[in-house]
Amino acid sequence: ARKFFIGGNWKCNGTLEEVKKIVSMLNEAEVPSENFVEVVVSPPFVFLPLVESLLRPDFQVAAQNCWVRKGGAFTGEISAEMLVNLGIPCVILGHSERRSLLNESNEFVGDKVAYALSVGLKVIACIGETLQQRESGSTMAVVAAQTKAIADKVSNWTHVVLAYEPVWAIGTGKVATPGQAQEVHLELRKWLHDSVGAEVAATTRIIYGGSVNGANCRELSAQPDIDGFLVGGASLKPEFADIIRSLT
Ligand code: 13P
Repeated sequence: ARKFFIGGNWKCNGTLEEVKKIVSMLNEAEVPSENFVEVVVSPPFVFLPLVESLLRPDFQVAAQNCWVRKGGAFTGEISAEMLVNLGIPCVILGHSERRSLLNESNEFVGDKVAYALSVGLKVIACIGETLQQRESGSTMAVVAAQTKAIADKVSNWTHVVLAYEPVWAIGTGKVATPGQAQEVHLELRKWLHDSVGAEVAATTRIIYGGSVNGANCRELSAQPDIDGFLVGGASLKPEFADIIRSLT
């Protein structure tokens, strides 16, 4: 059984006051025990230590990015070692906003995932097609190439969560239908089965991201190959608690 996984990606949002409010809201939320659902929230770097110190112990924090290799003369970057040093257990890598706005290639993301795992971080690795790619029928080829770039560098998938986030559904209010999401998740699982192994395919969580909210989360979570969500906008609001409860 794959434990349900809910990630909240705060992206580049929040003032100090807002961040404290969101954490209080999360700390008061009634949610299933950590035996049933894994919850990870991802504030901007500068708020990570504060959120880590204030957040309820059954939730974890994740960074939204880290440097591709060991730290050093890389102005403006944060290394994977620093996250480990601060007790940050997890990192989001390969988010589509970084792939498109900061030109992160499949290979670069694969290197980042492998390096972060090698220092002991858990990784939420993001993949997903653009609208143009979907309309031209290349969705599966695109997400397979993105996943292959990770699989080429990673042998142990235990600490990887794969986040399928169709770019056209991110921040648009245009959520994938449960059928559309399930179709890609199932294909991804088949790809993992054939290219990595049966065990990895059976155990790796594949979560969906893109305009998930309190109203649409239940029919998505009912799909057999959707193992949780990576939530953007709604993770800053009280409805995030409804999303955490979507399996109950
Ligand atoms: P939205 O939930 O705001 O569409 O963002 C999804 C996302 O990019 C999570 O990483």
